Amino acid sequence: MENQLSKQKKLDLRYLRMARIWAENSYCKRRQVGALVVKDKMIISDGYNGTPSGFENICEENNVTKPYVLHAEANAITKLARSSNNSEGSTLYVTASPCIECSKLIIQSGIKRVVYAEKYRLTDGVDLLKRAGVVVEYMNPDEEETSQD
Ligand SMILES: [Zn+2]
Repeated sequence: MENQLSKQKKLDLRYLRMARIWAENSYCKRRQVGALVVKDKMIISDGYNGTPSGFENICEENNVTKPYVLHAEANAITKLARSSNNSEGSTLYVTASPCIECSKLIIQSGIKRVVYAEKYRLTDGVDLLKRAGVVVEYMNPDEEETSQD
């Protein structure tokens, strides 16, 4: 049983690191966030923060993030809306703790678990997720893989 748990933790950490690599796709300068949606051990969607399709790839204006920039979670979830997949019962891996707006989308999209890597001073998003029964876990993606196999 203990082995089983550590196996899941290893997978979680790897997906979280993948989300961090995915964040490198973001052309936003102030902050780069990456997200992956995983269901039945398959990555069914991905996202990073950025402007909507068709808009120029510039997130900031006078060093302030434009109001229409989509967060990584919102991009991953809306990408699913255009696919034949669905996020019911899936896990979202995201490099930063979700804001309240994204948390609403996460709840409505049927995501059951959120693993995030970076804490934010505001906890209203995480609080809302927990209130809705979504399992929320903070993990340090650089945590050493100490256990065997
Ligand atoms: Zn957000």
